[in-house]
Amino acid sequence: MLDNVMRQFDNAAEIIDLNPNIRKILEVTNNELVVHFPVRMDNGEVEVFKGYRVQHNNALGPYKGGLRYHPTVDIDAAKALAMWMTWKTSLAGLPYGGAKGGIQLDPFKYSQAELERITRRFTYALGDNIGPELDIPAPDVNTNAQTMAWILDTFMSTKAPAERSKNMHVVTGKPIGAGGSYGRDRATGYGVFLSIKFWAEHKKVYLKDKKFIVQGFGNVGYWAAHFLEKAGASLVAVQDAYGSIANDNGIGVEALFEYVQGNKNGIVGFADTMPIDNSEFFALDCDICIPAALGNQITAENAPKVKAYLIAEGANGPTDVEAEKVLLENGVEIIPDILCNSGGVIGSYFEWLQNRNGEIWQLEEVMEKLEKKLRTSFDKVREISNERKVDMRTAAFIIAIERLEQAYKQRGIFP
Ligand code: GLU
Repeated sequence: MLDNVMRQFDNAAEIIDLNPNIRKILEVTNNELVVHFPVRMDNGEVEVFKGYRVQHNNALGPYKGGLRYHPTVDIDAAKALAMWMTWKTSLAGLPYGGAKGGIQLDPFKYSQAELERITRRFTYALGDNIGPELDIPAPDVNTNAQTMAWILDTFMSTKAPAERSKNMHVVTGKPIGAGGSYGRDRATGYGVFLSIKFWAEHKKVYLKDKKFIVQGFGNVGYWAAHFLEKAGASLVAVQDAYGSIANDNGIGVEALFEYVQGNKNGIVGFADTMPIDNSEFFALDCDICIPAALGNQITAENAPKVKAYLIAEGANGPTDVEAEKVLLENGVEIIPDILCNSGGVIGSYFEWLQNRNGEIWQLEEVMEKLEKKLRTSFDKVREISNERKVDMRTAAFIIAIERLEQAYKQRGIFP
């Protein structure tokens, strides 16, 4: 992943002839924290975990980005994902920098009580390296509102009494009852849907009866599918960590969501669907493909078989650089991750603002504001893409990098 994000950055930096000194700064991460911490398991044994927080850049504001719980979390993955966050928040016009982190573990091997103790002890290990005006984590792969509530509670509990309630905005993506915002749960998926909608409007394509496939049926995949189905499109295949299922006549999004809640094997076995081989997934017949799981899923190997004409990147870094070349050559358009899934961090920004100002906004207000912000980003990307005759990813990177370049030029370098 690190190789991918660097190549994407280099490509845009070359095109805009980025100031070489600023390029040196943006090529590296500001801070990289690796922590080891012990946690007592349910059986009485102690296990030691490895956690990460990489802070790439904070020229535009506090570091911002998710925490993921997954075996693939390592220093390079955290660095790559932190860089993508910097470009994402910059492109969205938010007053944030970029960070990412997590714990290298398979969360499905642990009980809820163990996950709570792991999360709390990780928060304690991060200490004051995170903070509401310094670095603000959020949910990512295999973490959710509950995880954020544990982080908030631990962070506040370890502060002096008079300081505690000033820290509500140390994390975003919290449950509503614990200082979360209406709409943050669906913000990423809604943003993916909106990006597709804006693209379709631009291309004069109707979403009704269009076929789409979704890789990953977590928070992003589910909500994106929910809104697309409401717009009349039809979900024809899904893949998750357990396998892939398909039905060309359509898969009911809500019924599948209900099924997954009570099933140990994710989507597998859902009524009226055919199990298919994972390797065939991206080759399925469809109009729109939404990778909403992990990085490096569309590669030079499977890219030539992609039938969709639009890829909307719900995940971070799902398409590698070699695959992208093949896809663009074949006329497949890609709404890049830093635009397509930016609804999540925009929703986080709204939550952070509400906490900071002691406000509570209603769902409708959040969704309207989200749509407005995303439309602004989308239109800018289209404009630069046309002006410079580049693909949407390159255009998005150009906008993000130019905003940072301007900040550095105006501020200069200390001392
Ligand atoms: N983890 C999400 C992302 O990759 C959200 C980050 C945030 O809200 O800070 O964009």
